[in-house]
Amino acid sequence: MKIPKHNTDLRRHVLRRDLWRIFGCLLWVSMLIGGAIAYNNNHKTYPDYRRMVGWRMALWVALAMLSGFFIFRIWKFFTDRPCTGTVVVSGLSRSYTPSPDPGAMNGVDYDFRTNTALRLRLDNGKHRRLRFEQKPGFYLYYHEGERVAKFRGLPYPINLDPDAKSGCVCSACGTWRKEKAPHCEACGMSLIDPKELI
Ligand SMILES: [Zn+2]
Repeated sequence: MKIPKHNTDLRRHVLRRDLWRIFGCLLWVSMLIGGAIAYNNNHKTYPDYRRMVGWRMALWVALAMLSGFFIFRIWKFFTDRPCTGTVVVSGLSRSYTPSPDPGAMNGVDYDFRTNTALRLRLDNGKHRRLRFEQKPGFYLYYHEGERVAKFRGLPYPINLDPDAKSGCVCSACGTWRKEKAPHCEACGMSLIDPKELI
């Protein structure tokens, strides 16, 4: 399922981030390769084992591409696929990241984050797990038995109930509100209307 045509700002948001990712990765890889070539040119008198030639250059290029793949999250192009399914299990999970904090006893603080964890039964019978940051209102919105759609590049799935009994969620930032609205009050992005998806 694709983002509806008239949600042009959301489509542009996803496209812009995709392009920045690809552009950033290409720039990163070309800088590393360019650096190796410049090194070779500046050290022409060195023996081969001290220059970036042959397998050393091949390894360097491979490492540049591999690091770019992770730094710019290129893997998201392969893993972040759109899907539609019914919520089988809606639960919570925790994750945390240690962050330096001079006020804490041992100098390290932990930023706890609560996530909503959904188990979806897709239309083709397969199951898929989705995990995203928990926000107020999600208890009502991602209810078991509800049909939801996840879009590529947008973290928060949309409830496909056309009457929106359980409110609306912004697919970009996850802000929940009770009533239908054309735009998100927090980030200003347009909200996807489930009616457009049926
Ligand atoms: Zn928003």
